[in-house]
Formats: sequence, C-alpha cells, structure tokens
Amino acid sequence: MKTIIVSNRLPVKITESDDKIELKQSEGGLATGLGSIYRQGNNMWLGWSGIEVESESKQEEIKDRLQEINLFPVFLTQEEINLYYEGFSNETLWPVFHYHPTYAHYEQSYWDSYLAVNHKFKEAVLEIAEPGDIIWIHDYQLLLLAGLIRAEQPDITIGFFLHIPFPSYELFRLIPWRAELLENMLGADLIGFHTFDDARHFISSITRLLPLHASANQINYNDRQVIVEAFPMGIDEKKYESLTHDRLVLENVSKLKENFQDLKMILSIDRLDYSKGILQRLQAYDILLQKNPEYHERVVLYMIVVPSRDTVPQYKELRDEIDKLVGNINSRYRTLDWNPIHYYYRSFETEMLSALYNMAEICLVTPMRDGMNLVSKEYVASRTDNTGVLILSEMAGAAKELIDAIIVNPNNVGELYRAMIEAINMPLEEQLRRMVPMREVVAKFNVRHWVKIYMDRLDEVKQLQASMQ
Ligand code: UDP
Repeated sequence: MKTIIVSNRLPVKITESDDKIELKQSEGGLATGLGSIYRQGNNMWLGWSGIEVESESKQEEIKDRLQEINLFPVFLTQEEINLYYEGFSNETLWPVFHYHPTYAHYEQSYWDSYLAVNHKFKEAVLEIAEPGDIIWIHDYQLLLLAGLIRAEQPDITIGFFLHIPFPSYELFRLIPWRAELLENMLGADLIGFHTFDDARHFISSITRLLPLHASANQINYNDRQVIVEAFPMGIDEKKYESLTHDRLVLENVSKLKENFQDLKMILSIDRLDYSKGILQRLQAYDILLQKNPEYHERVVLYMIVVPSRDTVPQYKELRDEIDKLVGNINSRYRTLDWNPIHYYYRSFETEMLSALYNMAEICLVTPMRDGMNLVSKEYVASRTDNTGVLILSEMAGAAKELIDAIIVNPNNVGELYRAMIEAINMPLEEQLRRMVPMREVVAKFNVRHWVKIYMDRLDEVKQLQASMQ
C-alpha cells in the first residue's frame, strides 16, 4: 500500500541547459509539509513537470530522474497550459472562488481542456495506483480528478483538499459547469477546506445544485459516505524560528538595520493578485502620510510584490496601477534621505524574507480573499522575541486562527489607516499579550499536525464507510 500525492505542479523546478537536466527541489509550504509523506518508501508525488518537453526520449529521461526522488511527471503541451491552467483554472475558477465574478471568463474551450487535462492526470495516476493505495489530490486545478479516478477504481481511497476559498452558492452557481465540478469533487472520500465557512459553502452548493441531502458534514453519494471538513493548514514553524539565527539571515538583518535604523518598518509581501488588496493598502498608507506629517521620516512601507500570471490582462493592469500609486506616494512625500515606500516587484530567497520578518515591527496582510495566507503565519513564527504587530484581513482564512491580530475589513480604507496608527503606537506589553498566543497557535497547528490530522481522518472515513456496508 502506498500514498500518492497529486497536485498541479511537482515540488521541484526542472531546468534544461546544454541538454542537461537540472532539478531543484521546492521549499514551498506544501512541499515541506508533504515531504514527510512522499519521500517515504514507495510513496509518490504526481504532477505537472513545469516545463514543455516534446521529445519522447527527453520525457523518459526526466521521468527516470524524477523517479529516483519519488516524483512522477505529467507533461502538458503549451496549448493545455494556456487553456487548462491559465484559462479555466486562473481565469474562470480563481476569480469566481475569490469573489471577483466580473473577472471570470466562461469559455467552452477552457472547460474542454480542463476536462481533458484532468483525464490526463487520471491516466497518470492509474498507471501507478494499485488497489489499496491512498490518493491525496490538491487544489482547484484538479477538481474533477477524484470523480474520474473513482469511475475506474470504485474502491480506492481518495482525499481532496482545496487550498483556495470555496465561494458562497450565489457565486458558485454562476459557473456553467457547476454540477460536473461538484459531482466529480464528490469522487473523494474526504473533502478538506481551510475554514469551516468554506466547508459550509461547499455543502450548501451541493444540496442546492444536486439532488442530494447532507446530514451535517456527511453526504451520501452513490451509496458512499463523503465527509466534508475544515483542516486549517499550518507552516513549518521550526524552520522560521531557526532561520532567525542563520548566518545569512543575520547578515541581511544587519544590512537592513543600516538603512532603516530609525524607522518603523511596515512589511507587506504578496504575489501580484487582485485578491490581495494591495491598492487599498497603499491608499491607507497614503492617508497615513497625508494626515500625519509627524510620521514622515519615521515609518517605511517595505512592499514586495512577487510577479505572477502577468500574461493575464487584469494582472498587468493591477501592476500598472500599483506602479502608479507607489510612484505617486513616493514623489509626493519623499525627502533627501527618506523614501516612504521601498517597493520590489520580484521574489526573494527565504533568508531575505526571514530577515524582513525579523526587522518589521508591523506586518500588513490585507487580502480581499485568501484561502489561508501563509505570510501572516510566517511573520508570527519569526517573531521569536514575541514583539511585533500583525494587521490581518478578516477575509483571510488565517484570521480564524490568529484572532489576536488587529483584524480589519480590507475594503475599509479608514479602518486600515487606523489599524496602522494603532500598530505604530502599540505599547510593548500589548504586543506581547497578542503575539504570545498567536505564536502558540502557529506552533501547535503546524504543517506536520495538518498532514497528520488529515490522513488520520481519511482513515476514519474509510472505516466509517466499511461499517455502513
Ligand atoms: N514567498 C516566497 N518568496 C517571496 C515572497 C513570498 O517564497 O519573494 C512565499 C512566502 O514565504 C509564502 C508564499 O510565498 O510561503 C505565499 O503564500 P501565501 O499563502 O501567503 O499566498 P499565495 O501566494 O499562496 O496566494
């Protein structure tokens, strides 16, 4: 018996230079959390290779190399990437699931490709799956996979976890292929979400759109009990704690200290995305500087935006808007030796992020919608002296756990502005009073715990199903 993890991308970056294949393992949250599973015994992680490879011999070579580290690649053509990934996943599901229905495109060609690629993943899974195996599928790119596998292997154990929000029925119903999506999700035995509200929304869509009833979090589908539950994902908190005394991190901290010595640093780290509330955050910071000249040369907003999906028009437009607003604020308030915003449109190594988490007195995380938000948890885990203030949007899954943050509605720019003032002036005792319990939550409900409770629950669900037969 083995466990097969399935996600859109493999936890590895594959590059080809001078005909040589190079592999670099990813350190992302999911890769770290699931590392304990897929590296064991004959377990596997199956996903898209991340590069386009046409020649079959090259594909075989990559497959062999990956097999040594328990990875199994699925190869996608450029057309599939355009239609299944950038199209249906990122231009249909992503905006609807993040409450931006006006950004959604409902294209038949996107759907056709999404279905075809989910079939392609199914074929790959069935190539390695044997009766008795456990399959754990991740995220919105593979909503159909559980159902497609179930149709061919009725007794196999399948878990599914959604890493983004599940929207209210009123949003979900907009999608033309809504019933197919739900029916195939129900191919799983255990369907996990980050929050209770996501689980509730899913159950409500099921009971309204399909001829099915739910009894609390249990749905009987084709004589199989499916359980729907919330499992808030954690981080590897030990990694962020130990990074605080890493040599490279300490070097970065001392360089940052030279430049930002007498300034209160407000940190903001996001991927470029309209769901992240970046513009509203900038507007609030603008008000702060406008209304409080005494803070000029005393605060700095250190803002990292990681490039993402910039072929999609809405993302390009957002980037232009951010550039404009940052330029506008900096040109209005800067002085000879002070820049109000240090803005970077690129990604950074973990050692730099850790140094910034260490340096920043305030971390500003204000998404319009976010399944969980790991940056907020990484900030908390990095504050080993228990100081610092987290300002957190109530629309992030993390707000359900980090209840001692200053919780804000990200649409309320006035509230964001007042939260920043409160954070800047927060006495040390209050910082400790809030940070200590948040650190406990992040340590206790870490990513290892998340994997364990999910896998234990999947096992219980199979026992429940067996007892009902
Ligand atoms: N991150 C990174 N490099 C950067 C900025 C961010 O590796 O330059 C990481 C960050 O540490 C976090 C992840 O990207 O683990 C972002 O996860 P989050 O849940 O906050 O947002 P998502 O991008 O998944 O919507």
